[in-house]
Amino acid sequence: MKSDLHIHTIYSDSTLTPFEVVSCVKNAGISCISITDHETMEGIPFVQAIASDLVVIPGIEIGCEGGKKSEEVHILGYFVDPENSKLKEMLSFIHEAREKRVELIVKKLISSGIKIELDEIRKSASPGTIGRLHIASLLHKQGFGSDVLFCFQRYLSFGSIGWVERESLPTPDLAIYLIKTAGGIPVFAHPYQMINLIPQLVKAGLMGIEVFHPKITKETQRFLIQKAGQYNLFITGGSDCHGKMKEEEPGIGKSFLDDEYSAKFFWKLENM
Ligand SMILES: [Zn+2]
Ligand SMILES: [Zn+2]
Repeated sequence: MKSDLHIHTIYSDSTLTPFEVVSCVKNAGISCISITDHETMEGIPFVQAIASDLVVIPGIEIGCEGGKKSEEVHILGYFVDPENSKLKEMLSFIHEAREKRVELIVKKLISSGIKIELDEIRKSASPGTIGRLHIASLLHKQGFGSDVLFCFQRYLSFGSIGWVERESLPTPDLAIYLIKTAGGIPVFAHPYQMINLIPQLVKAGLMGIEVFHPKITKETQRFLIQKAGQYNLFITGGSDCHGKMKEEEPGIGKSFLDDEYSAKFFWKLENM
């Protein structure tokens, strides 16, 4: 069995609807997935409703403070209860902060002569949570750059005309704590640039690391597998697919847990 435990939908910042996700997954021969949208679990019931022949693990990805102000640590949570009140409280705090930031960015862009409308961005983000990628995507559509990532770099990145510092995010320790409080398994997402954080996150209660990811090299994979063994962690993996938001073709099928690692994941789950 192949598993892709890291997929986004239109409920956060992917271009793929639940229906498109399910069809890409089936084309790639994957039979177990997790929907891990940024700070929301709203898309999961829609995927579950049309994917009765797939194993669908409820998931979430939470952006947290990194070592430096511009860095983020992403923590995935598997099997969390979406109704947990403490988790919900933190998520709505993050949504409000992001909404405020988008409003400030739009004001800055407009004052620099870039005609862009907040309502248009809201519309393009619907039904999901709004973020900077939606602004970049609209800038691209309106002819401000040849692709979404170019627009992101040119207009929204640190030092550019639309740069607005974000509000503080939760610490990774808090996200790990809340995921566990909500009955979930916290996993360090795409840890390739912040491998040195593993020991401190383990101390905070981390239970897994993402080893298979399009941006993780074979060499780093070997290192992470060894770390997982050392700390008795779940090994996870997936495509981190955002549809066409970041690349030309949806990346589902590029990175996944193969038979062996899928079996190891479920064995560990049963023997927790
Ligand atoms: Zn991430
Ligand atoms: Zn992701």
